[in-house]
Amino acid sequence: MTRHPHHPPPRTERPAPPEIAELTRLRAEQPDLASAIDLQIELLKLERRIRTRLPLPLSSLDVGALAARLRTGRPILRFEDLTLNWSDFRFVFRSVAELMRRFEALDEADYRRTETLSREADRLEPMVTQWFATAADPATAEPPPDLAGLEAVVQLAMRPFLARSAEAFAVVDCSAWTRGCCPVCGGEPEFATITPAADRLLICSRCTTRWRFDPLACPFCGNAARDRVTSFATRDGRYRIYACDDCRRYLKVYDARHAARPVLLAVDTVATLPLDAAAMQRGYQA
Ligand SMILES: [Zn+2]
Ligand SMILES: [Zn+2]
Repeated sequence: MTRHPHHPPPRTERPAPPEIAELTRLRAEQPDLASAIDLQIELLKLERRIRTRLPLPLSSLDVGALAARLRTGRPILRFEDLTLNWSDFRFVFRSVAELMRRFEALDEADYRRTETLSREADRLEPMVTQWFATAADPATAEPPPDLAGLEAVVQLAMRPFLARSAEAFAVVDCSAWTRGCCPVCGGEPEFATITPAADRLLICSRCTTRWRFDPLACPFCGNAARDRVTSFATRDGRYRIYACDDCRRYLKVYDARHAARPVLLAVDTVATLPLDAAAMQRGYQA
């Protein structure tokens, strides 16, 4: 078969992402984390498969209008601007739920609920739409009632779609954004990194956008009092926790100042599972 000269090579020919090699190395070092690591590898493979099918949305962005939206403190992505193909979404939603059940990250009853939901578009679609809206305005928006217990499934299933959209928004300058939620989709930070220049970048739990935030303040409640934020590091100094003594939530951070590689969200969130246990033992919540 001859390939059409203007046809790009299939994107599946790309080499495996560095995350998979790092996760494989981590599994050898920390066998206790094997199940979480294997789940993460399967999720990465799923995301790679689906991303080849997703169009890059919003080819003609009105960058000026989006920057103006940001200046009023509102995230730039609205749900109606997403080019979300619901049948693609249902496929990812079902696949994520199956993987989570296989690696015991989702119990049988919740798995059954995902099966029912993925057959009932009139329940699944409003649930996801409402889930998206609660991030942008958590103070007033109610989380959808069907969502309880399935938050992680929806978040992971939406990630490829939101991350793809976030790529399109990379052209919009978010440097003046000072809120603790994501400038693109309004999501909460899931993780953070300290850059070699000693900036703290938060990483969105939904679309994986990174944005600069005050190096110490709590992104969840805005508390900036130094004596009300507890910070502790792993022995090797690679990871750190910032825990807020006002709202009792915590954020994990990868310190890249003396590290051989930059942060890898899929790797560092799993490598720090023991830190989550330590933070929760001290009475903080994710
Ligand atoms: Zn986001
Ligand atoms: Zn707080």
